[in-house]
Amino acid sequence: MGMKHKVYLDHSGQFYSCKRCETHLVPRKELVSKNFHGRHGYAYLFNKLYNVYDGPPEPRSMLTGEHIVCDQYCIGCGTVLGWKYIKAFAETETYKESKCILEMKIVSKHIF
Ligand SMILES: [Zn+2]
Repeated sequence: MGMKHKVYLDHSGQFYSCKRCETHLVPRKELVSKNFHGRHGYAYLFNKLYNVYDGPPEPRSMLTGEHIVCDQYCIGCGTVLGWKYIKAFAETETYKESKCILEMKIVSKHIF
């Protein structure tokens, strides 16, 4: 898959970065919902993440039903930061498709 070029996010507002290597991940304006849970506690849903690469797609059973997801890895340090929803099978959950979960415990918040 090779090394990807890091995107340096615009600092006009809040953004989140990887706690381990400080790679920029997403500006706050991409936030969709704070009402999610990850493997490590609370997690936020974003429209997309930057500076991540996809793991293999896999089925995952969650409180809201069956989903196809792929883990999202930091391109800086390889930490699993969350996952991307590829497909939701319940009609009420399809709004999550192509959006990404970011685990809040493993990111840093920056405010400018
Ligand atoms: Zn990292």
